[in-house]
Amino acid sequence: RAKSAGGNRFELADPEADARAITRHGLTTSLPTALDRGEFFIEYQPLVHLGDGSVRGAEALVRWLHPQHGVLSPDRFIPLAEHTGLIVPLGRWVLEQSVRQARAWRERHGGEEAVGSLRINVNLSPCQLTHPGLVQDTVDILERTGVEPDALCLEVTESALIGADDDLLKPLRRLAEMGVDIALDDFGTGYSNLANLRRLPVSVLKLDRSFTQSMQRFPADPVDLKIVEGIVALAHSLDLAVTVEGVETGAQAEQLRILGCDTAQGWYYARPGPPERLHELALVDATG
Ligand code: C2E
Ligand code: MG
Ligand code: MG
Ligand code: MG
Repeated sequence: RAKSAGGNRFELADPEADARAITRHGLTTSLPTALDRGEFFIEYQPLVHLGDGSVRGAEALVRWLHPQHGVLSPDRFIPLAEHTGLIVPLGRWVLEQSVRQARAWRERHGGEEAVGSLRINVNLSPCQLTHPGLVQDTVDILERTGVEPDALCLEVTESALIGADDDLLKPLRRLAEMGVDIALDDFGTGYSNLANLRRLPVSVLKLDRSFTQSMQRFPADPVDLKIVEGIVALAHSLDLAVTVEGVETGAQAEQLRILGCDTAQGWYYARPGPPERLHELALVDATG
């Protein structure tokens, strides 16, 4: 906290907070041009089938290689990008790069089905949902790259869709009709009405990391087990697949597999990494 010490002089009561503020300020001024300077890059984290351990695809996670601060995680700059409007061109860039990457994997599969059918998950921010170009941009990118719509899954957080009206859902419905999967990300952290799920054009629930964390303890909290079991049953009865995020141990993976979850993602399998890594993981996995 900065304390006023008379006149215009300030005494820094908390140098750390001040450094954070300066950093924030630096980011605010350098963010708008970072896309043109080519400072963003994407890491890919595999999505693994819990039943047979095969790599089915990857989630694209954007990073910013800042010239002064080094690699910044999306939590540091996505809120800023949303605030400044950069998220629309940035999100479009991430989508195009990721879909191109998916095509590259699928082209270089060398007859390996495991690589030839890799799918790609891309996060959408709420601002992109309300942007009128979303459907056309997505169609254009898929056409330009020649990737089938069903190789793409767009992730939207549960909180972005809470109380969503039909106008907000329309673009998602159109994408879903084309064959694009829509996933409800960080599911279980918001307060959405479960019955509301039927109204949403989603085909995948991504169970939030907090559930996975509670599977870390052995035996896991019986109430948490029941909750996950219930969510999985409901999801499956609505024809939704269940993906779990943040799997860090084999014990968690096994528990979540027993509970009926379909796909998993987390450090136990692989940290987010460069695209070549995913290609290798899918191949290793296919050849045993
Ligand atoms: P998310 O979509 O829920 O992505 C999962 C986050 O969990 C990623 O953090 C990932 O690195 C992290 N993670 C994966 N496995 C584990 C694990 O085993 N343990 C732990 N503790 N964490 C794990 P990351 O990459 O920092 O991304 C954070 C959030 O930023 C994402 O959460 C997503 O909401 C957002 N984000 C990332 N890329 C984009 C993007 O291109 N566009 C938009 N709009 N948002 C993005
Ligand atoms: Mg996500
Ligand atoms: Mg998530
Ligand atoms: Mg999350």
